[in-house]
Amino acid sequence: MQRILPRGEIESLDHTTIPRLRQPVRASVFADRAARLRQLAPNHPLSTYLLLMADLADGQGKALKHSHMPGPGSERIDLAQAHGMPPLQATGWERDPGWRDLLAGLLEHMSGLTNLPPQALEIAQALKQRLNDDPAAIEAQADALLAEREEDVDAATAPFIMAALQVYWTGLAADFQESALPVVTPHGVCPLCGSLPVASIVHVGGQADACRYLCCSLCSAEWHLVRVTCSHCENTKQIAYHAIEGGPEGIKAESCDHCHTYRKIFYQEKVLGVDAIADDLASLTLDMLMGDAGYSRASGNPLLWQHAQVES
Ligand SMILES: [Zn+2]
Ligand SMILES: [Zn+2]
Repeated sequence: MQRILPRGEIESLDHTTIPRLRQPVRASVFADRAARLRQLAPNHPLSTYLLLMADLADGQGKALKHSHMPGPGSERIDLAQAHGMPPLQATGWERDPGWRDLLAGLLEHMSGLTNLPPQALEIAQALKQRLNDDPAAIEAQADALLAEREEDVDAATAPFIMAALQVYWTGLAADFQESALPVVTPHGVCPLCGSLPVASIVHVGGQADACRYLCCSLCSAEWHLVRVTCSHCENTKQIAYHAIEGGPEGIKAESCDHCHTYRKIFYQEKVLGVDAIADDLASLTLDMLMGDAGYSRASGNPLLWQHAQVES
C-alpha cells in the first residue's frame, strides 16, 4: 500500500505524535548496514570498497555486543539541559580508553578475513602496530576525526578509527534515556552527540511514516526534521530536489539555494533496506552531478575521507 502525500503535509498534521529521536538498536544497526552494503556491491564501480566496509560493519556489530562504556553523569546531563546542548557531545568528550580496545578488536577482525585486499590488510596491520606503540597518536587522529579537521585526518586509516568511534557512540546512544534529552538542541547537528548528519531518510510505517529523519554520522541516532527544509541552514524557501536521470529509485539530493549546499535524501518507500551511510557511499555519481551544478556537500561520509583515493 502506498500513499502519496503533498510535500511536508504529514508534519503539519500533528507534531506531537512524531517521535523526535530514533535511537539505534544495538542488535541490528551494523548488521543492517553490512547487509545493505553487500546488496549494493555487485556490479558497482566501488564494489571492492563497499564489500570492505561490509566486513568492517560485521566487525562493528560484534564489537558493539561487548561495548558498554560509561555514559554521561548527572552533572553532564544537567549542564546539557541548562544550555540546550547535546548530552553526548563527541568533541571534548573524555573517551574511556576502552575505545582503543574496540579498535584493536576491529583490526583483529579485519586481519583475520581471508578475502581482505592486500592493501587494506597492510593498513590494518600497520594501524594495529601503531595502536600498541603510540596510542597518543591514535587519540589525536580520533580527535581530528570527531572535530572533522580534514587537514589533520589520515584518509587511509580514518575508516577504521571512525568505525571504532561509531561503535563507542552507538553504544552510548542506544543506552541513553530519552527523557534526559534537552528540549531544544542546536539545528543541524545530532541532538545526542552533536555530530553532523550524513544524509536523511523518509521513513515508512509506524509513527514516523512519511517523516524525514537526519542520520547521525557517528552515533547512528536519527532525528526528525520537517521535509523541504535545508538541513544545513534551516531555509525552507529555496529547496530543490535533484536525481540522476535513469538512476536508482528512492534517492535524491536536497539542495538549498540560500547556503548552496546539499545532502542526499533516501526514500524507504522505494527501498526499504536503505542505509544512509551505505547508500551514500554507493551514490557518488549524484555527488558529481551536484558538484557540477555548483553545490557543495554539507558534510562528508564518515567512512570515506578522500574520494580520490578510492579505486575499484
Ligand atoms: Zn549522534
Ligand atoms: Zn541552506
